[in-house]
Amino acid sequence: MADSRGMGIEHSLEEILDEAVNNGRKMTALGKTATYIPELGRVNKDYLGVCICTEDGRYHVSGDTDIRFTIQSISKVISLAAALEQCGFEKTFDRVGMEPSGDSFDSLVRLDLASDHPSNPMINSGAIAIASHLSCEVSFEWMLALTRRLCMDEEITLDEKVYHSEMGHISRNKAIAYLLESKGILENNVEESLDLYVRMCSLGVTARSLAGFGLILASDGINPLTGERLLHSKVVQTVKAIMLTCGMYDGSGRFAVEVGVPSKSGVGGGILSVVDKRMGIGIFGPALDAKGNSIAGQHVLRELSSRMRLHMFADNVPEY
Ligand code: GLN
Repeated sequence: MADSRGMGIEHSLEEILDEAVNNGRKMTALGKTATYIPELGRVNKDYLGVCICTEDGRYHVSGDTDIRFTIQSISKVISLAAALEQCGFEKTFDRVGMEPSGDSFDSLVRLDLASDHPSNPMINSGAIAIASHLSCEVSFEWMLALTRRLCMDEEITLDEKVYHSEMGHISRNKAIAYLLESKGILENNVEESLDLYVRMCSLGVTARSLAGFGLILASDGINPLTGERLLHSKVVQTVKAIMLTCGMYDGSGRFAVEVGVPSKSGVGGGILSVVDKRMGIGIFGPALDAKGNSIAGQHVLRELSSRMRLHMFADNVPEY
């Protein structure tokens, strides 16, 4: 493969990944794990792994790609897709908007003062509203089975420790849920809405699982290995657009400029990225920046985007 910057150097995909992970490792010292969920604070913040799943279904890995960590906010993508499939567009976007909030993921200020609905489904208030809705239609087991299929990973289970840790420190999300209830946005009661929300956040995945999910989103919702359609085309298109504009919280604009790939982060350290028609990328790097995004993970993605021309507006896309 020719170097995408035209320097005439041959690099394999694995070499590019190794270099990006080695460079990214220098960043982990600058970030912190998410101690507001005590169990997440116990994770080694120096972990860093990246996995790419290419169109042919092959996985390319570097670093800590087999360690299980909790999916956290990346589950908001799955819940949004499930809501669109189960409840339809109108019902879903009736109560949750599709605009970036510019606020932190757990903010309730705008919801309280300036709006009658959450700005988008990728922040806590939006995802709790969606979980409330979903909890009336499907069970957690149904959501787990969907997650396993989308990630092509049958070993995904609930991480009980993280689930109980978050349920024991749920005040802020409870405040959001009660505020939603006061505005008539919750479909179910606060307890059941939050229970599904936190269970979905507590699913144990790997960078590999996220790369598999990314490939399915990159392939219009079809599992390219079996040919099975898992999500409708319109659902996938909507989810990717919202990932691009809202997936990295109040860091979404800069990330779209610098990386240019629809992505979704979680405070467990994961990032899911979708390079349309080409690949899914999964990252694990639990040291977070102030906005709650993996600090080294973003560094890796910036490097991969520039070296492999992954930016959605890049010209001259090379063959891999
Ligand atoms: N479970 C976390 C919370 O609700 C998810 C947040 C995140 O990943 N940004 O606070």
